[in-house]
Amino acid sequence: MSLAAPHAELLAIVKADAYGHSLALCAPAVVRAGARWLGVTSVEEGLSARARCPQARILVIGGVFPGQGADLLRHNLTPVVWEHVQFDELETAAHAACVPAASLAVQLEIDTGMSRQGASPHALPQILARFTPASPLRLEAVMTHLFAADEADGVVTADQLARLDQALSLAASAGLYADWLNVGGSAALLAGLASPIAALAARHGMRAMIRPGLALYGLIPPYDPSFDTPEPPTLAAARNALRPVLAWKTRVASLRSVPAGAVVGYNGTFVATEPLRLALLPAGYADGLDRRLGNRFSLLAGGQRAPLAGRVSMDQAVLDVTGIPGLEPGSEVVILGSQGDQTLTAFDHAEASGTIPWEVFTRIGSRVPRFAV
Ligand SMILES: *Cc1c(COP(=O)(O)O)cnc(C)c1O
Repeated sequence: MSLAAPHAELLAIVKADAYGHSLALCAPAVVRAGARWLGVTSVEEGLSARARCPQARILVIGGVFPGQGADLLRHNLTPVVWEHVQFDELETAAHAACVPAASLAVQLEIDTGMSRQGASPHALPQILARFTPASPLRLEAVMTHLFAADEADGVVTADQLARLDQALSLAASAGLYADWLNVGGSAALLAGLASPIAALAARHGMRAMIRPGLALYGLIPPYDPSFDTPEPPTLAAARNALRPVLAWKTRVASLRSVPAGAVVGYNGTFVATEPLRLALLPAGYADGLDRRLGNRFSLLAGGQRAPLAGRVSMDQAVLDVTGIPGLEPGSEVVILGSQGDQTLTAFDHAEASGTIPWEVFTRIGSRVPRFAV
């Protein structure tokens, strides 16, 4: 399946170190693949993306804080705005930098129902009034986030788009017209919403932009079959077509044989009931190997599942590799990904550690080196 959305401009979300995949590798890769826009959460992340991608447009989604306006301007980052304090900060920084009127492009977020960020309908008239002709700010895009794009009946999304439609009409009645309508992430894209979003944009003389993150990394939002609202069929098809791009591997540091009765790891939570062969791994919870996996999850060694014996330490973990032939110091161990005919997914990790898959790879530690393969 192609991820191309003929109806919309793609803004590639590379926040949180490209979802743990490495901003340094992924941001230049998506730009080489044709993305003109990158999306990050903070000004700090924006500066890091700018150092790697000098030409890209970079959208800072999570808001600009007091004192960050100057950096934002200097590095040509594009802020999402919705609060008066953000306008204050940007206006102050723009005046200090002698930026002419209407030259600092911003994206205005509208809260269409998620209650997370964005101008609420009652606050919108006052926020729109900040775009005076003399303001250094220029309304380049209107943005909102869809929070139920993975629900097949589309009722929530239709309601959100109706609220967005009203907000755009309100802006038009204030004489404000933006170039872009920036709506939704991977779920919206894969549920086929690019086309209705583009239609809404066109009705207001705008072009559509869509902001996938997960799908770029071969991942899509989880679907829980017990969920009371079925998912759109295109989303189910995408789930089968996408493959996660990330694998996380380590190596056996050393091997030892222990007798029955040996205890393994902090507080001796694992006791050998027979002679065992143990492999030490140089990966622990500081690397993102969740401590809750100790004694309840297996990694892949020698093409087989090898249980984690005892507690996961900060820097190390121990695998029970009894009966797995051919292992020696340096042998590959797969934490996430495939080995032989076995595969461990972020979903498997998440189920065992009681979280969601996205947390698994966004928490892979910064000291774990990333390589493009
Ligand atoms: C993280 C994020 C996205 C990307 O969402 P995915 O589900 O990863 O595609 C899009 N928009 C906003 C506002 C986000 O915070």
